[in-house]
Amino acid sequence: MIGRLINFFFWILLGALAGVALPAGGQSLQNSLIGMLLAVSGLHICNVWQGSRMLKWLRQTELNSNTHFSGVWGDTGDRIMRLIKLKDNQRQISEESLRQFLAAIQASPHGVVILDKDSRIQWSNQTAFRHLGLDPQIDVQQLIGNMLRSPAFSQYVHSKSFDQEVIIEGRLHRIDRPHKLGIQLFPYGDGRMLLLSRDVTLIEQAETMRRDFVANVSHEIRTPLTVLSGFIETLQTLALNEEEREKYLLLMEHQSNRMKSLVDDLLTLSRLEGSPFPGQRDWIAVKELFKACEEEARGLSERLHPAAKKAQVLTFDLPMVFEDDEIAGSRSELTSAFSNLISNAIRYTPAGGQITVKWNRTSEAVVFSVEDTGPGIAIEHFPRLSERFYRIDRSRSRDTGGTGLGLAIVKHVIQRHGGTLNIESKLNHGSKFSLQFPALRCRSPEIESSDQTEVI
Ligand code: ADP
Repeated sequence: MIGRLINFFFWILLGALAGVALPAGGQSLQNSLIGMLLAVSGLHICNVWQGSRMLKWLRQTELNSNTHFSGVWGDTGDRIMRLIKLKDNQRQISEESLRQFLAAIQASPHGVVILDKDSRIQWSNQTAFRHLGLDPQIDVQQLIGNMLRSPAFSQYVHSKSFDQEVIIEGRLHRIDRPHKLGIQLFPYGDGRMLLLSRDVTLIEQAETMRRDFVANVSHEIRTPLTVLSGFIETLQTLALNEEEREKYLLLMEHQSNRMKSLVDDLLTLSRLEGSPFPGQRDWIAVKELFKACEEEARGLSERLHPAAKKAQVLTFDLPMVFEDDEIAGSRSELTSAFSNLISNAIRYTPAGGQITVKWNRTSEAVVFSVEDTGPGIAIEHFPRLSERFYRIDRSRSRDTGGTGLGLAIVKHVIQRHGGTLNIESKLNHGSKFSLQFPALRCRSPEIESSDQTEVI
């Protein structure tokens, strides 16, 4: 400030001195005043010129930092430049934060849509496009009600109660491939709303499965229970002779066995779901498994066809070369899977039919198979056979003591042992169910000796 005053007075003084120095014959005071006036005017014109330069400079869209101003205008220009740079930096930081924030919302597994107070779309992310088909560019300013034409959503919007989400069908929904979304609105600010969508297809499927499962179990248990209570009432109210009593008690035993089998299978399934996968440490002799299965199978076949003239032909084919094979896994699970397949073959194959149980091994896999000459299965049932309680012939399944859970157990067991369940069947031409295990799950002296030969 003092510098600028000194500068100002320096120019005035210079003007006055220049006036005095002029050869004006005794009018030095007047000349010095004229000199001072000229100096002030010069300074003023200089200021006006600098000011108009600065205005012109400021009117540019991009300020050129190479433009220089002198005196107080120079300081003002520098200060303006500094302020602009500061604001520029702040804007860049805010833009970067906004970009990061939007990128985070883009990465969200939830669809996000920002609605203005008229429920028009202001912004939406990519997930909202996948879920609802909203294009982040084209659909801006569209009314959300026009874009989501679901009656459930319209009802939800009109209810104005947004505490919970509403379930609607997603844009990829098809009868054979459901796509369900949970949509929830969150009001904020002055009437604006945030819409969140999440994919609930799997949750809904699990919920439907749970409901069906509970309904199926209740139904399966209620039927024998109703029959049992009917028999109990009969025994209590009617005077029966010994033979009749015996007959009723046998029927009651049959029903209670049915309930027991169902509960046993349910427990097996829940154990399979809740326990860790069987490791490769426990080795079970295949011969033992075959022996146990054969004893059980012959008993079941005789029980189911006691009066048959021509009994079922059961063949257990464990080739000599594989007799010492051992399989790694859980003994109880493998026994359960093998005997479920054998018992199905016995239960569904009529008397006189043939059932062949086989063990085979190649360098890639080990295969346990059960082949029968029973009624066979139409191909359209294949995908659903291992679903819980899925039966083709309900009455045959129940009459022979089936629970509808056998193949579900088999599928679980084989998956837990790293293998696959394969079904080959033709209606009226019998069926073949095979369990294919990875070769690593099998060991035998023969494999070990060939390994040794290779090592040597
Ligand atoms: P279930 O206790 O009813 O036998 P499963 O889960 O073991 O239940 O089998 C499901 C359905 O698959 C059976 O109800 C039956 O219709 C069919 N099935 C299974 N094994 C055979 C087979 N060997 N021959 C014909 N149908 C079979």
